[in-house]
Amino acid sequence: MMVTAEQQTYSSVQIIWFFFLPNLFAFNRANIYPQAKFRVMLKREKKLEREIALSRIEKLIEMAEKMKFEDYELSKRCVTIARKIAMKYRVRIPKELRNFCKKCLYPYRHDRMRVRVRKNRVVITCLNCGYVKRVPLKKG
Ligand SMILES: [Zn+2]
Repeated sequence: MMVTAEQQTYSSVQIIWFFFLPNLFAFNRANIYPQAKFRVMLKREKKLEREIALSRIEKLIEMAEKMKFEDYELSKRCVTIARKIAMKYRVRIPKELRNFCKKCLYPYRHDRMRVRVRKNRVVITCLNCGYVKRVPLKKG
């Protein structure tokens, strides 16, 4: 005897089973992959992170520039933190904010640096650590 779709009937137990099936499945999945829920929660907004990081870097370097004649150590600390933030969130420090020594991270100060022009290059020597930075002059 053939059973068509209209003729087929479901018992109440079958219907209840059908309703519970997806829930049970979800529960099992959560048990197998306990981190699955957390991964969704911890999804990082990298674009937003970088915007915040850049604003903080700008603020820290501004602070370092302000206090470099009063507290040179503290201004170095500001630059160090700014650089750490830049590395962690992979943000490039803007060129106009990069007026500190690459090696010792002290901000450039007229009495702790030497600037000379030699062979079409600006040679900046840091007198704290002796690091030499050479910036080529643009032609024309
Ligand atoms: Zn230096």
